[in-house]
Amino acid sequence: MDDSQLLRYSRHILLDEIGIEGQQRLLEARALVIGAGGLGSPAAMYLASGGVGTLTLVDNDTVDLTNLQRQIAHNMARVGQPKAESARATLAAINPTIAIEALVERADDARLAELVSRADVVLDCTDNFATRHAVNRACVAHGVPLVSGAVIRFDGQVSVFDTRGGAQRGAHLPCYSCLFPQDQPFEDVACSTMGVFAPLVGVVGAMQAAEALKLLMGIGEPLAGRLLLLDGLRMEWTSIAIGRNDACPVCAAQSSTGPD
Ligand SMILES: [Zn+2]
Repeated sequence: MDDSQLLRYSRHILLDEIGIEGQQRLLEARALVIGAGGLGSPAAMYLASGGVGTLTLVDNDTVDLTNLQRQIAHNMARVGQPKAESARATLAAINPTIAIEALVERADDARLAELVSRADVVLDCTDNFATRHAVNRACVAHGVPLVSGAVIRFDGQVSVFDTRGGAQRGAHLPCYSCLFPQDQPFEDVACSTMGVFAPLVGVVGAMQAAEALKLLMGIGEPLAGRLLLLDGLRMEWTSIAIGRNDACPVCAAQSSTGPD
């Protein structure tokens, strides 16, 4: 780190748990953020401001006036532009010293496998179950931790799915599919039809960034094996312990044959 970087990240470096070593880890890390909307905006902004060295943003949508109520990486001047590129511009204005890749595409399974395999952490900031399951499959297959968030109306949830690790930890930890099986017909309720209370995507997206930074630095205790549920009307959190489903078609086979 040069003097300018030492200054930029000084409030991280002052923290005993982070220091220069932790900040250096962030600078050498690669994060993949899927979705540059309500959750992806704050998540990516904190990853960028916090100094994650390489960020990849994936989103095939364009900025719409109805997005500006909560998707804080975008602004009036960028209505009609691709969200990935709009978000990149915002992040680059905050921190021009990191590498930011904007992919205007809807990644299919093969593309996700490629993107996930070169990431150190993945943030699922999408709003539909099909994509969440595809992202989860890629993360389990490639042994990359997944930070998952969701918000609808006044309700939010956040968790970390990390099936790496074997003996000491990880062997009993669930993947996203253990919790929400792929073959169950969960109702796909998107913000576009149900409404969403604007600050809740900020709360949950910021928590996703916090968990991702912790994972990248190896500090604290990750939010794995727990699901946090937020009732935004009462402003009350509930923590639920979640375990691996031994019959999960995504991670059960992986745990016996996959990489540790
Ligand atoms: Zn599973």
